[in-house]
Amino acid sequence: MSNQILVVIEHLKGNIEDISFEMLGKAKEISSNTGGELVALLMGNGVDGMAGQLGISDKVIYVDDENLAEFNPQAYCKTVASVVADMQPKLVMIGNTSMGMDIAGGVSVDQNMPFIAYVSGISGDGNTITSSLYGGKMNVDSAHTGDGCVVSVISGSFPADAGRMDGSPSVENATAPDLSNLSLQFKQLIEPESGDVDITTQEILVSVGRGIQSDDNLPMVEELASKLGGAVSCSRPIVDSKWLAKTRQVGKSGLKVKPKLYLTLGISGAPEHIEGMKDADLIVAVNTDPNAPIFDYAHYGIVQDIFDFIPALNDKL
Ligand SMILES: Cc1cc2nc3c(=O)[nH]c(=O)nc-3n(C[C@H](O)[C@H](O)[C@H](O)COP(=O)(O)OP(=O)(O)OC[C@H]3O[C@@H](n4cnc5c(N)ncnc54)[C@H](O)[C@@H]3O)c2cc1C
Repeated sequence: MSNQILVVIEHLKGNIEDISFEMLGKAKEISSNTGGELVALLMGNGVDGMAGQLGISDKVIYVDDENLAEFNPQAYCKTVASVVADMQPKLVMIGNTSMGMDIAGGVSVDQNMPFIAYVSGISGDGNTITSSLYGGKMNVDSAHTGDGCVVSVISGSFPADAGRMDGSPSVENATAPDLSNLSLQFKQLIEPESGDVDITTQEILVSVGRGIQSDDNLPMVEELASKLGGAVSCSRPIVDSKWLAKTRQVGKSGLKVKPKLYLTLGISGAPEHIEGMKDADLIVAVNTDPNAPIFDYAHYGIVQDIFDFIPALNDKL
């Protein structure tokens, strides 16, 4: 087993996702503490230019193959597994994202390594891993022996800025494994349909969750958003209930937003929601449950019934 940490870089449409920088920052801290080496794994077709954004790494392993041009779980899983087999890193960090969750389990099985999912914290020596379970209501610490472990990290767990560093890390080309007989083929990337309001460009979002109870109660939320000069967005259950269009959904399977103000009303703060809004400049949360995970991310938290809060603020405004 080597004293290396392997971070699997996630990118889409030419942009490296924040989760990659979050993991790189944390991996750097661990490798500095333990005298190890931080290796970033970049996969794709003609994306070697991105290596310059991975300057915090000691080394970038670049695997270039036309079968890696678009995300294909089978191709990516085989590729990560082959690099892990060669390197034998003590820790493999993958995003707990839609892409990462397609890869991590397969690598774990292929390489016979334990897999710890929903990771929100890692100790400075890399050996104690904290998972955030039940939408953040329960944390579990797992200790691993250092003999190789796959972890999938929840987006928003570590600061992305800590891993952002331009530079010229050494880039090593690795040959892709045989990807000629894949049973899965990439067809197309389905972009979210455009809606009446583009929530990704709004400076103020009033985001409503299951706490609103019924679509009969949405007009007071619309009124509040309009008085604040913003738009209404929501968590997934609101879209699943067909109370608002899918184009209003924030999160992992919705849209990523970065408004100046993100006001949440009756949203618990599940990791899949946090993934879409954690980068907002100012997060204000209203929830009756003082232990709601959303308060771990909010700059201001208000423990109150939204049916008292919304009319009172509407009256004030
Ligand atoms: C693969 C996958 C993808 C997903 N993608 C997304 C996604 O993109 N976006 C997303 O949002 N979710 C997503 N989810 C769902 C996610 O896991 C949560 O189930 C969801 O975010 C919960 O929404 P919520 O916070 O509105 O509801 P709940 O978790 O039910 O929380 C409701 C909150 O309202 C509070 N509340 C209740 N009544 C009141 C009141 N009167 N006043 C104040 N507070 C009150 C409660 O205390 C509670 O905290 C995804 C899940 C999976 C498995």
